[in-house]
Amino acid sequence: MSTFKELGLNEDLIAAIDDLGFKNPSDVQAKAIPILLEEDTDLVALAQTGTGKTAAFGFPMLQKINVDSRTTQGLILSPTRELCLQITNELKLYGKYCKGLNVVAIYGGASIQDQARAVKRGAQIIVATPGRMKDMISRRMVDISKIEYSVLDEADEMLNMGFYEDITDILSHTPDDKNTWLFSATMPKEVSNIARKFMDSPIEITVGNKNESTSQVSHEYYLVNARDRYQALKRLSDANPDIFSVIFCRTKRDTQKVAENLIEDGYSAGALHGDLSQNQRDMVMKSFRNKQIQMLVATDVAARGIDVDDITHVINYQLPDEAEIYTHRSGRTGRAGKTGISMVIVSKSEVRKIKSIERIIKKEFEKKEIPDGMEICE
Ligand code: ADP
Ligand code: MG
Repeated sequence: MSTFKELGLNEDLIAAIDDLGFKNPSDVQAKAIPILLEEDTDLVALAQTGTGKTAAFGFPMLQKINVDSRTTQGLILSPTRELCLQITNELKLYGKYCKGLNVVAIYGGASIQDQARAVKRGAQIIVATPGRMKDMISRRMVDISKIEYSVLDEADEMLNMGFYEDITDILSHTPDDKNTWLFSATMPKEVSNIARKFMDSPIEITVGNKNESTSQVSHEYYLVNARDRYQALKRLSDANPDIFSVIFCRTKRDTQKVAENLIEDGYSAGALHGDLSQNQRDMVMKSFRNKQIQMLVATDVAARGIDVDDITHVINYQLPDEAEIYTHRSGRTGRAGKTGISMVIVSKSEVRKIKSIERIIKKEFEKKEIPDGMEICE
């Protein structure tokens, strides 16, 4: 197994990696970092959630940019504001010894003037959601004409969310000879189309299932009457008093409702969804990160890519329409070598969905009974 030093990272980054306590590079890091450091190339990297993709593009970008210059050299596009903030924070940690480094996050729902000012002070790296980025380009608040490296992070999700036009527009303002690094968990047609359109014979890397090095998630399902869903959720959390979990619902309304009910019933819960203000979302994320709340009830979009340490359980209050979304959800737990449990509450009419998920995750679910609640189980 290689070390970070052997991958060619400089002393400033190695020192930060030591501080972070990363022992060895993950698979995607071991594959991507040497390529990105040594070659001027486009890259397509396919790796599941939780495999350490941020560092796979973050380390090489930090090493390659010139921190003595105030020109924007790196642009990272990512689907949600939470992810933008998360990537920005990670990059600041990774680059804590890169003197003069300035990373700025750009996303909707916060003051555009403040963000423009932060960029003007000399951001070498911008981490942005496509919508806000496009807006700022059209208002000439950012100059990305000298970008050398662009990253499309969670490309599959950005395209799912309908950002194709925005991405096209943004990239048209960047130089042709920049390098583009695309990271994605899955490779649907839309992603290969974008690779073909915007990239120049990219090197492709794929890493196997995340459970190899970074994740160990076991999967369980609980069959209940549809009307007993909420009772089942409460029993599951009663049975796990130390639970620190994300609970996924399908709609913003259900998300809000479940969170409100939990709070009313005395549980430590909070809601995260797109109908909340940016301020509310930041607050709930902060209390969750600080473990002031134990249960974060969220929609898929709002919780996309959220990386909070030590999540013990992911609870699928309702199953997603697509089996692939399930892998994104369950990837919130069992991160960085820890174990985690992904639970699904299903009614009879949905139980067949379990089979199609098993095919995708290549693992079997264990069927379990709701603790102390025989009367609500089928
Ligand atoms: P992804 O973008 O693939 O979902 P992240 O970049 O968010 O994954 O990383 C997942 C978690 O693993 C983060 O908490 C990160 O700090 C941690 N991590 C990343 N690389 C390593 C490593 N080499 N060793 C240990 N932990 C790591
Ligand atoms: Mg990521």
